[in-house]
Amino acid sequence: MDAEASPSSIASHLRRALGAARHALAATSRLVLDIALPTLCVSCREPVNGEGVCAACWAKLSFIAPPFCPRLGIPFVYDPGPDLLSMEAIANPPAFSRARSAVRYDDVARTLVHALKYQDRTDLAPAMGRWMARAGKELLGEADMLVPVPLHWRRGWSRRYNQSGALARVISRQSGARVAAESLRRVRATEQQIGLSRAQRASNVQGAFKVAADRMADIQGRRVILVDDVLTTGATVDACARALLRAKAAQVDVLTFARVVDSHKAPI
Ligand SMILES: [Zn+2]
Repeated sequence: MDAEASPSSIASHLRRALGAARHALAATSRLVLDIALPTLCVSCREPVNGEGVCAACWAKLSFIAPPFCPRLGIPFVYDPGPDLLSMEAIANPPAFSRARSAVRYDDVARTLVHALKYQDRTDLAPAMGRWMARAGKELLGEADMLVPVPLHWRRGWSRRYNQSGALARVISRQSGARVAAESLRRVRATEQQIGLSRAQRASNVQGAFKVAADRMADIQGRRVILVDDVLTTGATVDACARALLRAKAAQVDVLTFARVVDSHKAPI
């Protein structure tokens, strides 16, 4: 029998042809989508090229620069001199060593964080992560690994991906510190922190995090940076830091994209 005309060879020809057609169709629909949906600036809705924020909206962000509290990263209105801590750091010393954030949590920052978190705007992660890498340069120089603050699996499922993990991957590419995404687990679901007082936030997340048993050896003796999108009272990262320190991490620092800054509190 002629090999070219055998039923199995016809079938394989057909499969290849179908495969090619499917591929072409997928490419075309992608192209159509690209044309139909230009990327809009997440803040002002103007069309942008590439990343999801226009230059004007980036310029509106309030980047945090020295002088700030060496412990908590809270910006100071005037420079109180080297090594002077904020009142917050003295009154409530955190479990972590140092916290740094790229920007103040204002309207533009909130729009970015919400778009990344709830609207699947993963295109924002590269720019946000780059600013975080810049803000955390000092910490990153000493770090062994990046640990994103984990979502509870139920929330991770409904939201499909962890925004802190997306930011950590960008920071890793910028700094070379590896991401240890599975090290820290959220062992119980917590209420949303929004609307809770400082004390309520702390008790809400107490004991909510744990280092996975099979990752203990990986954490022991390591200098870890916790990565999250926003630092509010610091209750969540503090609970995470305690879990990492219980697993004998050598040091835990915190790096977030934004932080809430209470402008009424001046340094001592
Ligand atoms: Zn804009």
